[in-house]
Amino acid sequence: KLYNQVQDLKGSIRVYCRVRPFLPGQPSRFSTVANADNGVLTLITPSKNGKEGRKSFNYNQVFGPSATQEKVFSDMQPLIRSVLDGYNVCIFAYGQTGAGKTYTMSGPNNPTDETLGVNYRALSDLFSISEQRKDIIHYDISVQMLEIYNEQVRDLLVTDEIRNNSQNGLNVPDANLVPVASTSDVMHLMDLGFKNRAVSSTTMNDRSSRSHSCLTVHVKGKNLTSGTVLRGCMHLVDLAGSERVDKSEVVGDRLKEAQHINKSLSALGDVIASLAQKNAHVPYRNSKLTQLLQDALGGQAKTLMFVHISPESDALGETISTLKFAERVS
Ligand code: ADP
Ligand code: MG
Repeated sequence: KLYNQVQDLKGSIRVYCRVRPFLPGQPSRFSTVANADNGVLTLITPSKNGKEGRKSFNYNQVFGPSATQEKVFSDMQPLIRSVLDGYNVCIFAYGQTGAGKTYTMSGPNNPTDETLGVNYRALSDLFSISEQRKDIIHYDISVQMLEIYNEQVRDLLVTDEIRNNSQNGLNVPDANLVPVASTSDVMHLMDLGFKNRAVSSTTMNDRSSRSHSCLTVHVKGKNLTSGTVLRGCMHLVDLAGSERVDKSEVVGDRLKEAQHINKSLSALGDVIASLAQKNAHVPYRNSKLTQLLQDALGGQAKTLMFVHISPESDALGETISTLKFAERVS
């Protein structure tokens, strides 16, 4: 009974965890994960006096290394579909660089039908539901793509001429909002966003792991009989890598980036933790990310914190810090 009450209080915040598989070409090593299913993740912790420790964590959902993209998406589908009923939704992919955030959200480079990520599947699903409902509700769906790097927001859906005229630090309302009606429109925009993201960096992977990227889907539904209009909005966020950098080793730009990332991830943690605890004051103003997403965090909005971990034993320190973050917001 108490369990139900607790669940109710936290009803709008969910936490999922995904463990990525060992990658081909990696020397085979022992996994830090003893169990990953039925909502329970069990980690093998370093041996003390020759004995191995085990620690378990509970989440709303846990995906082990063999979970397919389709399975992962199907467990997020009800949340995603609720945007068509006028809910605001935020989905965050959290974890250290290399843990699989981008794989979950965007898929690998050159995805096949099987490996397509959540972003594409989500839009494709919204199109098919809106088609099913077309005699009752007319939906308009449009998207924005943004990147936050060093607390600066950049519109990723711009062509070269527009970008030259735009100022730094624009607000979401000023970012390009592009109507989409088919999965090929979406593919095209994701391509454009991907290219724009790469422009300002020498090594793209590097830059993408140090910035947050956000695909925002706006939905407007007009009931054809009553004329009532509903609006919903969904943010699909691939967060910057959560790994702590050794302050004694980084200087200059790299240190500044690390400080910005730290600041915004802890601000996000603070916001979600205070929503989970139903605090009266929610500290949205402490980072660009939480300011931007304020309307879709709290109130009737639904949040999914999707943490990602690597199975390698040399990642254990970061894995534990990721799981502590998840514990804090759940
Ligand atoms: P992140 O975005 O967290 O830095 P990536 O998504 O780029 O991590 O994943 C790192 C590498 O692992 C990539 O080569 C990616 O294709 C691969 N990878 C991640 N998750 C999976 C998975 N579930 N199945 C297969 N390969 C994966
Ligand atoms: Mg990534």
